[in-house]
Amino acid sequence: MTAINLSFDEMWDIFVTCDHTYDGLFFTAVKTTNIYCRPSCKSRKPKKVNVEFYFDRKEVERAGYRACKRCQPELAYSPHIILIKDTITFLVNHSKQTLLLKDIANHVGVSPFYLERVFKQETGETPRTYLEKIRVDKAAQLLKNTNRTNLEICYEVGFQSPSNFYKVFRRRKNCSPSEYRNQISKELVE
Ligand SMILES: [Zn+2]
Repeated sequence: MTAINLSFDEMWDIFVTCDHTYDGLFFTAVKTTNIYCRPSCKSRKPKKVNVEFYFDRKEVERAGYRACKRCQPELAYSPHIILIKDTITFLVNHSKQTLLLKDIANHVGVSPFYLERVFKQETGETPRTYLEKIRVDKAAQLLKNTNRTNLEICYEVGFQSPSNFYKVFRRRKNCSPSEYRNQISKELVE
């Protein structure tokens, strides 16, 4: 299976915001407690330096971690988990490209109609809105960690037009890209 292409900081942000839509795609392991969790676990968050991420449950257990009693990451997810996992991995790894629903469906081997229905049922998003979310999350990373302009970031993360970038960013983050960057730099100063 293809590994999902997410950086440490991206996974950290997902973990800190308890984003459940990435459950099953990676695991969070805490070195100080030897416990591993789903990204969405609501337990108190450890320090960043004490966290490791794993993509495979066998691997995290081999490294000596035990499953968290609270979020039970060892339990099977829905019967559709493989399909959802394949789809999200494909979306993350190809988020900079123009993707059509039929291409995504083709890649995971089901019909576009079926994919859209099951994906919506499992994640509350369509593949298209999920792709927007991935792009906005990547843009947020770049706004936080680089000096690139909004326009550069817009194209770098895969948006086709600045107006669409601004609209989608605001819908997801409740502020403009510039406001987001200002907020973050203020937080860092304080
Ligand atoms: Zn947990």
